[in-house]
Amino acid sequence: MRDRDTVAAALDGIDLVFHQAAYGGYMPEIAKYVHVNSLGTAQMLEVIRENRLPIKKIIVASSQAVYSEGAGNCPKHGLVFPIVRPIEQLRKGDWQVHCPLCGAITKSVPTPESAPIGGETVYGLTKVDQERLVLLWGKQVCIPTVALRYSCTYGPRQSIFNPYTGVIAIFCTRLLNNLPPVLYEDGEQTRDFSFVEDIARANLLAAETDKLDGLPVNVGSGRGTPIREIAEQLADILKIDIAPEINGEFRPGEMRHLTSDTTLARSAGYKPTVDLSEGIARYIDWIRTQSDIRDYFGEASEILKKKGIVHRVKR
Ligand SMILES: [Zn+2]
Repeated sequence: MRDRDTVAAALDGIDLVFHQAAYGGYMPEIAKYVHVNSLGTAQMLEVIRENRLPIKKIIVASSQAVYSEGAGNCPKHGLVFPIVRPIEQLRKGDWQVHCPLCGAITKSVPTPESAPIGGETVYGLTKVDQERLVLLWGKQVCIPTVALRYSCTYGPRQSIFNPYTGVIAIFCTRLLNNLPPVLYEDGEQTRDFSFVEDIARANLLAAETDKLDGLPVNVGSGRGTPIREIAEQLADILKIDIAPEINGEFRPGEMRHLTSDTTLARSAGYKPTVDLSEGIARYIDWIRTQSDIRDYFGEASEILKKKGIVHRVKR
C-alpha cells in the first residue's frame, strides 16, 4: 500500500476494488499505521484518479475499532454512548462502563453505525481515516463506496505468528504450548466474532447491492461473547486443561464491550452462516495441520508492557 507503482499495478484492469490491506493489531508503532492505512488509502485514490481507472465500486475494510466504547443502556437515560474509560479508573481495577450523563453502570447493548466514531487507538484512528477518505472521495467523484466495519474476524490461515492481534489465534497458540491464555481486565469483556467466510460474503453482498452505497456498515454476528468463555471453550476443544491467567493487566483505550448492531447489513440481505462454535472447531482443525506453533505472546507481552501499551492495576 505504501508503494505507488505496486498499487497502480494491482489496480490495472480492475473495476471493483476490495481494499482489505492494513497494518493491524496492538503494535507499538505509530507512524507505520498512518503510512500503511491512512496514507496508503489516500494514495490508492490518487492512483485511481490520475490514471482515470474505470473503477465501478470500492469496498473498504473498516473496523469496529472506530468506536470509542460499545453502546450502553443506562437505567435512567436509556441508550447512551459512553466515552472510553479513563486510565485512572482502570488503574483502580474498575472495569465497568459508566453512563456519560449520570455515572451509573451501563449494560452493554448492540452498537449502531450512528454511534460516535473517533477511535481510541492509533489503529482505530487510521481505520476512521480509511473509511472517511473512501466514503467522502467516492461522493466527490461519483464512485459508489461502502465501508464495512468488521467485528473481531477469525478463521483458518489467520497468522499464528502475530502475537498482537486475533484473540482466538493467540489463545490457541498459548494452549498448544501448554501456557495459560492471558486475560486482560477480568476476562468478562465481550466481543462480537465473525468467521472469515462470513466477512467475505459481506464484501460480495456490498459489491452486488446498491442498498449500502455511501455508508459505513457494521458486519458482525450481533452477539457478544465474554473473552473468558473463548479461552475456556478453546481449552475444552483442545482437551488442554489449563485455566486462563488474570493478573490485573489492561490496555488503555480498549473497549469493554462491543457487539455490532447488524440491522443495516441484515436489511440488505446479510446473514452470518458460521456460528462461533463451528467457526472455532474449523479454526482448530486448521491449526492442527500447522507444524510450527510457537508461542510469540510471552515475548510480545514484555515489549507491550515496556512501551506502555499494556498496564497493570496498582494495588
Ligand atoms: Zn445515566
